Amino acid sequence: MHPTGNLVADTICRTAELGLTITGAADAGTATIIDVAPVAVADSCPECRCPGVKRDHVTRRLVDLPAVGFPTRLHLRVSRFTCANPDCSRRIFQASLPCADDGAKLTHRVSRWTLQRLAIDRMSVTATAKALGVGGELVNRGAVTAARNLVYADPSHLAGVRGAVLRFWGVDEHV
Ligand SMILES: [Zn+2]
Repeated sequence: MHPTGNLVADTICRTAELGLTITGAADAGTATIIDVAPVAVADSCPECRCPGVKRDHVTRRLVDLPAVGFPTRLHLRVSRFTCANPDCSRRIFQASLPCADDGAKLTHRVSRWTLQRLAIDRMSVTATAKALGVGGELVNRGAVTAARNLVYADPSHLAGVRGAVLRFWGVDEHV
């Protein structure tokens, strides 16, 4: 059985590929807020890998792909844990998510999307930032992160390359 009954919404927004399921949504005027919950909770400490003891929850906000022309914000209720390993330097940690790096503001798929818009579609940083409802600096960081991940995923793409500069310029120019 589907955990929330929002199979239609999960299918339209493709939240399953994020490891999330939709629990609610709100029209916030300039953006759409989608409440989501992780399908599975990773409870291992990022420092020592020991399982943690559930402590409380925090709300994490992530920028996701625009939906029907509006910027989208994911609001997640994320579990926090206390590390049970007395020898570990980490006391409290948040559950990691498969869809975003710890502490990141963008989902992985938004980072890939920004790189595709800038590098393939020749969209400007300004237009990309406006579509996401974020600043140009965050768009730049997302695109660089996605490019770096592509290189790490298959370093053979750049076999023989001795150095590279990846830079997207601030307003309407990008390289
Ligand atoms: Zn630990």
